[in-house]
Amino acid sequence: MSKSIAIYHSDASYVDALLQQFKAKLPQHHIVPWQSDISADYLITWKPDAPIFSTNGVRVVFGLGAGVDAFLGADIPSTVQIVRLEEAGMGKQMLEIALYGILHHARDMIRLNQAQRQQQWLAESTPKTLPFSSKIGVMGLGQLGGFVATALAQLGYSVSGYSRRLKQWDNVTCYDESGFSQFLADSEVLINLLPLTAETTDILNQAVFEQLPHGAYLINIARGGHLKEPDLLPALQSGQLSGALLDVFKEEPLPQHHPFWADSRIIITPHLAAITLQDEAVVQISRNIIAYENGQEMTGVVNRQLGY
Ligand code: NAP
Repeated sequence: MSKSIAIYHSDASYVDALLQQFKAKLPQHHIVPWQSDISADYLITWKPDAPIFSTNGVRVVFGLGAGVDAFLGADIPSTVQIVRLEEAGMGKQMLEIALYGILHHARDMIRLNQAQRQQQWLAESTPKTLPFSSKIGVMGLGQLGGFVATALAQLGYSVSGYSRRLKQWDNVTCYDESGFSQFLADSEVLINLLPLTAETTDILNQAVFEQLPHGAYLINIARGGHLKEPDLLPALQSGQLSGALLDVFKEEPLPQHHPFWADSRIIITPHLAAITLQDEAVVQISRNIIAYENGQEMTGVVNRQLGY
């Protein structure tokens, strides 16, 4: 009997587009938009923002993104496997936005932008750093952090990386928790690409900022829950941090009255550091469904104990 797949998303036209693509990849499967009272073997969804997990018969939930914090907060039975996207074309997107932040910092763009607004020609200005000399620290060396760290090292940056299990990589100086302070001391630009878990919530906080070199730059492109927001403005005020690029926030969209909007040292982007590429997502999820049905291992299966 053919297996059934239900797709849920708040945007019906997106569901329709996905439906056509999945039907082309998995012609033997019965693929439908999710609705209440249906049964399905697999659920494919972006965010668990509907009572979809009470769907009868579900064995695997496939997330249409890399992060799974929202799924782990939902009421999904423990027998159901949760599978996320791995890289799926997001590595290059993360690299590009990380580079944007690094260059903004290294080329002193905060000061130069202010001078431009005052029609000031800072002729005496010299670049703060030599090209590619910024020391970069990447928190999280998984699918995305690993991609970003190795690519920055290939470009010639001095790169350190921090992960739960210690890695041994050629061009990246790797640390685990025992070396966290040294990792921070080496990070003139700190890029966060950790998953949001109980252990990493609020990890970007005053105590961490104080261990960075004075004038360090923060790039948070993972989850808003990583940043202890009240600690950021004092760190900018004291000069301990020179600026920040933030793509993600505790509350999204960032509320109108939020003080981050008005601070010229902060670059705000609306959670688009790396978007899901539809073609890549369909290929990866279809490959996993076929592997599952052939008794092979799927990739990107979430470890519920670890939270990622
Ligand atoms: P991943 O593959 O699961 O990698 C996680 C990395 O973090 C691993 O290296 C892991 O260590 C490390 N880690 C986990 N817990 C840790 C801890 N307590 N201490 C130190 N290291 C820890 O994740 P990913 O796919 O690269 O995604 C990274 C982040 O990007 C996620 O937060 C995701 O939500 C976010 N994201 C954001 C956007 C956006 O548009 N802003 C788009 C996509 C993804 P081990 O290697 O030892 O396991």
